[in-house]
Amino acid sequence: MSMLASAKKILLGHGSGGRLTCELIREVFLPFLGNPILKRLTDAAVLESSSDKLVFTTDAFVVSPLFFPGGDIGKLAVCGSINDLVVMGAYPQYLSFDFILEEGLDYGTLKRIVRSIAGLTRKLNVPCVCADTKVVEKGCADKIFIAASGLGRLIKSISLGLQKIAPKDKIIVSGPIGEHGMAILDQRNNFGFKIKSDCACLTDLLLPILKKNLRIKFMRDPTRGGLATTLNEIAEATGLAVMIEEKNIPVKAAVKTACELLGIEPWYLACEGRAVIVADEKDASKVLELLRRHPLGRKSRIIGEIGGSPKGKVIVKTTSGGRRILDMLTSEPFPRIC
Ligand code: MG
Repeated sequence: MSMLASAKKILLGHGSGGRLTCELIREVFLPFLGNPILKRLTDAAVLESSSDKLVFTTDAFVVSPLFFPGGDIGKLAVCGSINDLVVMGAYPQYLSFDFILEEGLDYGTLKRIVRSIAGLTRKLNVPCVCADTKVVEKGCADKIFIAASGLGRLIKSISLGLQKIAPKDKIIVSGPIGEHGMAILDQRNNFGFKIKSDCACLTDLLLPILKKNLRIKFMRDPTRGGLATTLNEIAEATGLAVMIEEKNIPVKAAVKTACELLGIEPWYLACEGRAVIVADEKDASKVLELLRRHPLGRKSRIIGEIGGSPKGKVIVKTTSGGRRILDMLTSEPFPRIC
């Protein structure tokens, strides 16, 4: 890259729809994200349809900083969209991205993010089939925000849902919790914990297991609000108690230490590459064994089960032998985590 190219900035004109917008599409988006559908540059993408049920999701990504150990805003946008499809039991098929750019953003920074998106979408074979860019005046956004949508095809015979959850079902978490949230806090505050985000796409971990006809009832990725939020959503929606053994919750030593120093509980920290899985007690150990065969699921654990009292609550049996109710957060202590 020449000095001139690296110094290039996003101008309001790049969002004008005119010459500079065409240049941005030609220089940044098409070379990286281009595929037969996107290259048509039509007002909307025309997609082949099948008789399968479609699964559709959308998310906005506003993480700060843009780059962090284990990922960046682009990787997060791809993984976040794909994981929401996968935990529903769908094969991700298409993605779309809307880039909200702040005037003055480095052209090179944008290219790095788009390249990161492209690397993953190619690897996963989930093309970006439509995209949009807007540029707002300096100060009206923070460098770049990305809105992403994902379209998937539901695996036949799969129907997961909170309504399927019943007493005695086991609760599994697919790996150590809190790494994404702590990685972002670490970077933002220069704590120096050197914690890496768990940001990852769960397609290869979860879909082969879902196709095995095991009695899996429900899956969710514990992103914002962490494990505590997902467990509370399960308790509230089912009206059943969720019993958790604190000693079984996988937390990496570095995250545990950082949490103790900062007075934060790891179960409130976001994960971006983990799944909470509720399975029938008869199939839970089989599901666990399959999860552990994959690198992303090696540290999977059964952390608790459904049932007991008080109903509609999450109860933690603590390592010291006590019991406490684990609530959802009422405020947002860590904004712009994803
Ligand atoms: Mg989700």
